[in-house]
Amino acid sequence: MPEQYDLIIRGGAVLDGSGAPGVRADLAVRGDRIVTVGEVPADAVAGETVDAQGLVVAPGFIDVHAHDDTLVLVEPDSEGKVMQGVTTVVNGNCGAGVVPYRSSRRAQEAGADLPTWDSYPGYLEAIASHPPSINVATLVGFGTMRAGALGGALPSFGTTPASSGVLGADVERPATAEEVTRMQAWLREGLEAGAVGMSTGLIYEPDRYASTDEIVEVARPLADFGALYASHVRGEGATLLDAHAEAMEIGRRVGVPVQISHHKASGRAFWGRVRDSIRQIEEARARGEQVTTDQYPYTAGSTRLAALLLNGRIGDSTADGLRGEDVLLASVPERPDWEGKSVADLADEWDVPPKQAAERVVEEGGRATIVVQFAMDEADVRTVLSHETTMVGTDGLGFGSRPHPRHYGTYPRILGKYVREEGVITLENAVWKMSGFPATKFNLAGRGFVREGHIADLVLFDPETVIDVATYEDSRRAPLGMPWVFVNGTAVVREGAHTHERAGRPVRRGVDA
Ligand SMILES: [Zn+2]
Repeated sequence: MPEQYDLIIRGGAVLDGSGAPGVRADLAVRGDRIVTVGEVPADAVAGETVDAQGLVVAPGFIDVHAHDDTLVLVEPDSEGKVMQGVTTVVNGNCGAGVVPYRSSRRAQEAGADLPTWDSYPGYLEAIASHPPSINVATLVGFGTMRAGALGGALPSFGTTPASSGVLGADVERPATAEEVTRMQAWLREGLEAGAVGMSTGLIYEPDRYASTDEIVEVARPLADFGALYASHVRGEGATLLDAHAEAMEIGRRVGVPVQISHHKASGRAFWGRVRDSIRQIEEARARGEQVTTDQYPYTAGSTRLAALLLNGRIGDSTADGLRGEDVLLASVPERPDWEGKSVADLADEWDVPPKQAAERVVEEGGRATIVVQFAMDEADVRTVLSHETTMVGTDGLGFGSRPHPRHYGTYPRILGKYVREEGVITLENAVWKMSGFPATKFNLAGRGFVREGHIADLVLFDPETVIDVATYEDSRRAPLGMPWVFVNGTAVVREGAHTHERAGRPVRRGVDA
């Protein structure tokens, strides 16, 4: 009897995710597991057989910096991520989590039959009962907990204007001991449910009003679970080094690994400063601290316009100020007709200074308005990408008509532009930064490597043609040269087309399932 499998992939160049060079090998998969890496007998049969000659076979990419908390339920195809080879997202970044959170309001607005939850176990069960096409791990968001504990509304990305960035209570004060205990309890519950760590977003409300000491106290339970602390730090311009130092101090005092989110120097006056922040990280690592970072490969960022105003970034003459033409409207919930315009366009139209125009956009367009802002240096992008402490994350915000192209193009852009065209890093190093490295850091057991016994999250791409095509003007475009993606052994992209299979699962810290 010939051997029987569910999936055979023949003749590809296997990059196993460890950073080792590719080797020509066949793969065989049964159920959700890779059972053979090597030679599969010619007479073996399978439900699906893929000829991978000329293609790289790599572990599915792990997006360690996702904001798809509710998006995976509202848009379960998760097209932007799946089509670029991402098989697992880590949600809950930048302090914005899903607990405490009334999902029912979002679900009603979406007009969809969506689950609700009131806890992290509930959220992960909602993923299991309404599976998207992609696997979902999560961080516990400090800001969402802080808003809940101090009595405000909830700052989550991509939620309604009413529930995004609007804080109904006085959050500009330290948390009381009771409120800290409340937050610790949510964090502990999340970690018991399988969350991979806790995130902060220290430029946002209400996170920004928390002192270092408060964050350390809330984060204490992380140490009992070996979970990590991830931070969108307090400043990425003039205060970059102090902000990184704070993140590392928190990790040191709590006794947990640190992940610095979207490592960059923002604002023209601070370009080049990533060399200093890298040196600072290297010094911490030499002392034994487990500090790593993630990055998206673009010179524009994306965030809530209200947050840029709050941080004095718009139309200001300070060194990290943004000009009106540097800020594009990506998602404007109440005025979608403004999407694609710049703040300068509207300032001209209304004959007001850029800052005033931005304020009017937030007022009339909604507090949840998201922009793309051009603030980084191309040389810095290369410097950060090529450093050994950097892994890849999209920071994608997949809302509105013109989301930042990173939501669709991050991985193929690195493989096409920075590996093939510019030679900034090697192909095997890029794949390590996209799979094995994040799986190891975020403790995603059974994922991130092409090995016998591991889960069959796989991406097949053509190293000669893979490239992003999503632009700032037209960002909802899937990349080229990435014809196959498998999630838990099931094809979610077949010959370049999304299969609409909902093969994703909740992924729990350290659990190989
Ligand atoms: Zn962030």
